[in-house]
Amino acid sequence: MTDSTKRVLLAAPRGYCAGVDRAVVTVEKALELYGPPVYVRKEIVHNKHVVTTLQKRGAVFVDETDEVPEGATVIFSAHGVAPIVHEEARALSLKTIDATCPLVTKVHREAVRFANDDYDILLIGHEGHEEVVGTSGEAPEHITLVDGPDDVANVQVRDPEKVVWLSQTTLSVDETMETVRRLRERFPALQDPPSDDICYATQNRQLAVKQMAADTDLMIVVGSRNSSNSVRLVEVALEHGAGAGHLVDYADEIDPAWLDGVSTVGVTSGASVPEVLVRDVLTFLAERGYADVETVVSAEESLLFALPNELRRDMKKLSGQDPEKVRHDPSALDAGSLH
Ligand code: SF4
Repeated sequence: MTDSTKRVLLAAPRGYCAGVDRAVVTVEKALELYGPPVYVRKEIVHNKHVVTTLQKRGAVFVDETDEVPEGATVIFSAHGVAPIVHEEARALSLKTIDATCPLVTKVHREAVRFANDDYDILLIGHEGHEEVVGTSGEAPEHITLVDGPDDVANVQVRDPEKVVWLSQTTLSVDETMETVRRLRERFPALQDPPSDDICYATQNRQLAVKQMAADTDLMIVVGSRNSSNSVRLVEVALEHGAGAGHLVDYADEIDPAWLDGVSTVGVTSGASVPEVLVRDVLTFLAERGYADVETVVSAEESLLFALPNELRRDMKKLSGQDPEKVRHDPSALDAGSLH
């Protein structure tokens, strides 16, 4: 029986963004076309369930390109790679499929353009994150990493009149604006990126959480610990008034004690999380009296990216499939539990 004092606020949008969807479908289609094993450099997206499911289907995740046998097929992850990785792949005669999210590629292009114009580029991001490593590799001599507001004091530039900031796509919007504010205090001529680098999906998921947070006693974010945008959602929830916040990969990681005295549970998921995992969380909550689910809509999303060109060509050539149909008709996907 539903407890009238217990309810769930479910964020919309949540879960898969266009870049993750494209990257996951890329691996699925590559496995179908070429047969296993298909090699993937780094985790295709930062989600434990996605990675283990694809592993079971025959994807082999490697850390570096030189772990891929000569002549084999390798997919580059949604987070992007530095140009040197493409060179390494060429040297090993690998067939490459680049699943870099087009919104990450956009930041790469901005970095190249500003480097060609001899700017100092201040890249706001998390040290060691794959996306930051890839973007920095486009113009290492011109890019300085700024890892949050406290790092601003350490930044050195050649010419304070010729400085631009760019950012990782999955950062906290509020914290990034604070970093930019402090950078601009030091470098008043600091230029903004030509368009937002923090992507639409990151912004929309944070916005949804901000709208719900003050009304929730507990926010459950479904996502993996190495998923930057998922971790940010917990932080944003706590900063905007959620009583507590936890990140879980699976429903069975929820500690029932978290629900003690809780009336309203907020639920959302990071941009790399399949919806099936959110449904498991809703089932877990319903079994404990939280069956009343209200969706809080903060934005509508309909963006869909075409699959990588290399893959589209082979889909047409090897299997006669229409890549457009695969992208616009979900029933054309053999996606199993990954959607
Ligand atoms: S979070 Fe944004 S940048 Fe990253 S894959 Fe998704 S759409 Fe692309």
